[in-house]
Amino acid sequence: MSAVATRSSELAPSPSATRGAVAPPAPLEHEDLVVHRGPRSGAHVIVAVHSTALGPALGGVRLWRYESPLEGVRDVLRLSAGMTLKAAAAGLALGGGKGVICAPEPRPTGPERRDLLLDFADLVESLDGRYITAEDVGIRPEDLVVVRERTSHVTGLPPEHGGTGDPSPFTALGVEAAMRAAALERFGSRELAGRRVVVSGLGNVGGKLARRLAARGAEVVASDIDPAKRALARELGLEWVDPEVQAVAECDILAPCALGAAIDEANLPLLRCNVICGSANNQLADDSLAERLADRDILFAPDFVANAGGLIHVYREIRGYSEEEAQELVLGIEANLEGIFAAARERSVTPLEAARAVARERLARDATRAGVAA
Ligand code: NAD
Repeated sequence: MSAVATRSSELAPSPSATRGAVAPPAPLEHEDLVVHRGPRSGAHVIVAVHSTALGPALGGVRLWRYESPLEGVRDVLRLSAGMTLKAAAAGLALGGGKGVICAPEPRPTGPERRDLLLDFADLVESLDGRYITAEDVGIRPEDLVVVRERTSHVTGLPPEHGGTGDPSPFTALGVEAAMRAAALERFGSRELAGRRVVVSGLGNVGGKLARRLAARGAEVVASDIDPAKRALARELGLEWVDPEVQAVAECDILAPCALGAAIDEANLPLLRCNVICGSANNQLADDSLAERLADRDILFAPDFVANAGGLIHVYREIRGYSEEEAQELVLGIEANLEGIFAAARERSVTPLEAARAVARERLARDATRAGVAA
């Protein structure tokens, strides 16, 4: 096994899960970065532990075909730092980590896939519980069952294997709670009935969110690059908008629920929404766009606060909480976000900056209480 400490400036650009955007370099402030060449697969498997100040570093493993292992390193550094902020912002006793499997092809199957998963699992096991893995892009619940063969430090297993299963209903519940907080901040009422909401991406989360909102009496407009998703829109009686124009459709709330970078330099001036609140990670192509949204009087609900329902769901598995307790925690996203909007107003900063500051303050305070360095 080899540990690699690489200066951020030496890291290659990452494809990430964005629309071709190049992710900015992540500062190397992590506790561990372990890069291992799997003996079975010959592929690089990587774990970054950004922080264990509040608890074990939790974060999914991404199986992706990277241009080079250094791109995988860059991705894992950035994503693991994001997990620390997300857990701290949600008030969870969890740290931030992430795993990456540098796959030789986009969707390895059969024995080749199994070798990659077992190599990654051995790496997780070697970290002795400092890092707990879960599902992320390119990983299916049944893959986690394979990982479980070599390590117990894995969450999000299918229910028939003792896990809590699909997190997306919890993520959708949390985004809806976040929307109520955003509606209160922007319109003076948390009522979503009658609000026109564009849900961009009718996938696992977006589909469930659209269903919930329609049931509440919101005027939901759906969009997806997959034409097969029109069937769900029809079933729910939703209006459909072409994906080419989804981001600039006139609405009260735009809910990006597809990939990252939904808001970029090109579409920002054309947006016709009052609020942006969805499940996608890294919704802004660049963090500086948060200021520009504020200038346009568009309220941005920071994605890592709004979409924390999935993480809270997994946390339930680690802490042994009931489904009811987990739901209550997820609904707490509403009050959490209200606090962040209030902090943004008081400090005259964007909600994104306020969310980061609140997370860092919690990290420093709770880590000090626990007697560890943040
Ligand atoms: P998913 O793959 O099930 O759904 C994504 C949907 O978006 C698909 O239907 C896809 O066809 C569509 N899509 C892709 N590009 C699009 C585009 N440009 N315009 C419109 N539609 C497009 O994924 P998911 O699990 O629903 O997750 C959605 C987002 O939420 C992701 O960014 C994910 O990282 C984030 N997220 C998910 C969870 C969870 O619990 N699943 C938790 C936190 C964050």
